[in-house]
Amino acid sequence: MSNVIGPQAVVIGAGMGGLSAARVLADHFERVLVLERDALPADPLDRAGVPQGRHVHALLAGGQRALGELFPGFESDLVRAGAVPTRAGLDVRVERPGFDPFPQRDLGFDAYAMSRAVIEWTVRRRVEECASIELRQRCRVEELVPRVDGAGVTEVRYTHHDGKVDTASADVVIDASGRGTPTLDFLGALGCTRPEETIIGVDLAYATAVFGIPDDAPSDWKGVLCFGPGGRGSRGSLMMPLEGHRWIVTVGGRHGDNPPGDEAGFMAYVQSLRTPTVYNAIQHAKRLGDIARFRFPESVYRHYERVENFPRGVLPLGDAICRFNPVYGQGMSVAAQEAQALGRLLAARAHETDPLANLAPTFFAEVSALIATPWVAAAIPDFVHPDTRGERPANLEQTLKFGVALGKLAARDPAVHKLTAEVQHLLKPRSVYQDPELVQRVVAVMAEQ
Ligand SMILES: Cc1cc2nc3c(=O)[nH]c(=O)nc-3n(C[C@H](O)[C@H](O)[C@H](O)COP(=O)(O)OP(=O)(O)OC[C@H]3O[C@@H](n4cnc5c(N)ncnc54)[C@H](O)[C@@H]3O)c2cc1C
Repeated sequence: MSNVIGPQAVVIGAGMGGLSAARVLADHFERVLVLERDALPADPLDRAGVPQGRHVHALLAGGQRALGELFPGFESDLVRAGAVPTRAGLDVRVERPGFDPFPQRDLGFDAYAMSRAVIEWTVRRRVEECASIELRQRCRVEELVPRVDGAGVTEVRYTHHDGKVDTASADVVIDASGRGTPTLDFLGALGCTRPEETIIGVDLAYATAVFGIPDDAPSDWKGVLCFGPGGRGSRGSLMMPLEGHRWIVTVGGRHGDNPPGDEAGFMAYVQSLRTPTVYNAIQHAKRLGDIARFRFPESVYRHYERVENFPRGVLPLGDAICRFNPVYGQGMSVAAQEAQALGRLLAARAHETDPLANLAPTFFAEVSALIATPWVAAAIPDFVHPDTRGERPANLEQTLKFGVALGKLAARDPAVHKLTAEVQHLLKPRSVYQDPELVQRVVAVMAEQ
């Protein structure tokens, strides 16, 4: 029995979400056309459409697992491209107030460190191997064209780099454009309500430099995650190995505490971190390339799950639905998990009379369940800074105290440490923290204070 749902699916954007979605669509559509406004480099290089790619990009184990299921052998591909294997809990030195460092122990799973360019290029090469997927580059999607009855999409209008305008028919359009403007404009054109948004104003600023790893580099860690002191003290950094025997060092601050982009200013900022580990490691290392900067004003979660009568055949995915505070390294992983969810839904519906009927609400319900853990994991610590904008959860104080006590318990107990790492890596949902026995133990630690 055929799994084919229709002749053509169109994907807007060949970023992490678009490439993952193309892979699952290829199981159910005769052709998948990916339209990407950038020229796509033959090698793992940064590109204009993903300026964030120049900053440290951690691939969480949950995202790695999702990509491994979509592209069997993905981890081996990464290693061949130069990715550095890191053992969770052991190889990245975590420095947080009260724990400098947090106990280093083997938590039983691997993650890989590499540039965003390598991750995307590795996935892109696998997508290029699928005969039914075409990546059409330097094509900017202008708009989605509605069906005559206005109930859904019929084609996509786009512009080639030479200005020529074209259309592509589409049974399904996945909007993985990052900003998600095509979907929002389409809703507007159809007179539908736009999704409500939850916004957390974090006013984050990043600066990133890459260094050659010196011969005398410390041997007891491969990377360092340094948290700020808390409250208004938001300065932190993540330093990770990259392919080509390099380190990438990203430093960041919030609400005006912006790291400078010049050499002296950048190094002074690194030196002002709460601990000296990163500065000591790079002070004599050779910097490669310039210093990149990025501003991230706010996390935005568009609640598509609340939109009624969402038009047929259009689905935003990845950042087009939710743009997470990058500090927690979740966006790529969530995008890959969303693509997996889409694949499961299409497979379950492929033999129905109308597989696309009500696909959107079902997909959005799955996505909200996926987003719940990473959104809360970011929102709670974001609200520690008094200048963070947004609606603070009613139980914020209690949740923060619970988090501090859970961290203390994790430092003492390897099993709890492993559990918290699994939640942080999106391998398990946050609801595991509601286990009555665990709650009892955490409450006991809270009582010690
Ligand atoms: C500074 C920073 C650091 C980050 N660090 C991490 C991290 O450590 N770990 C992590 O998992 N995530 C991180 N993220 C988030 C991550 O980059 C995104 O969540 C992820 O790239 C989302 O994938 P996406 O496919 O939705 O969008 P993107 O990967 O941004 O791709 C969107 C694509 O759409 C294309 N496009 C846009 N408009 C059009 C159009 N009209 N027509 C055709 N093509 C179009 C763009 O050129 C681009 O290729 C970080 C983000 C920032 C800002």
